[in-house]
Amino acid sequence: MEITEKIWQAIVQCDPAYDGRFIYAVLTTGICCRPSCKSRAPKKENVRLFPDADQACRAGFRPCKRCRPCRQDSPMEEWIALIAEYIDNNFDKPLTLETLSNFAHSSPYHLLRSFKRLRGMTPGEYIQRTRINKAKELLTASDRKIADIGSTVGLPNPPHFITVFKKLTGCTPAGFRSSYRGEPRAAQRSAD
Ligand SMILES: [Zn+2]
Repeated sequence: MEITEKIWQAIVQCDPAYDGRFIYAVLTTGICCRPSCKSRAPKKENVRLFPDADQACRAGFRPCKRCRPCRQDSPMEEWIALIAEYIDNNFDKPLTLETLSNFAHSSPYHLLRSFKRLRGMTPGEYIQRTRINKAKELLTASDRKIADIGSTVGLPNPPHFITVFKKLTGCTPAGFRSSYRGEPRAAQRSAD
């Protein structure tokens, strides 16, 4: 297979739209990847293309541990993984079921049901969990204000941010931060 400019761009930009169309192998590492793999972009002259992972492995390349090109996902699993990835990359924006179903070219109802069946939670729950995980990271790693962190993770209304945070973690953002830092509990009341 020839490395056209389109294919090269798909590799450089980790474009998931090309997954399933080809596998690229890197001569210097001996590893083969899906187009969407987030591993460091290889040098073009070291890249070889294969129609699928089987053929790359037969040519002596090992499947990448990160993107697992040999994994046989059903099209439904691939589809849901794509939606989850979209959420991972866009959780800071106002996401609704509408936005997601437009992205996924699906009816909101079908998306909701399929997502829940495969992931054990609704897309809405997945969005909130992603936001709160990011907020926890920012609360422990920075001194940024609670409201500021809320906006950064896509929950710009502070009371709403605090409510969602509390629902998922059992404590307020300020409480979470101070208990992480071993501060006295009194600090959390005044900071809220
Ligand atoms: Zn990979």
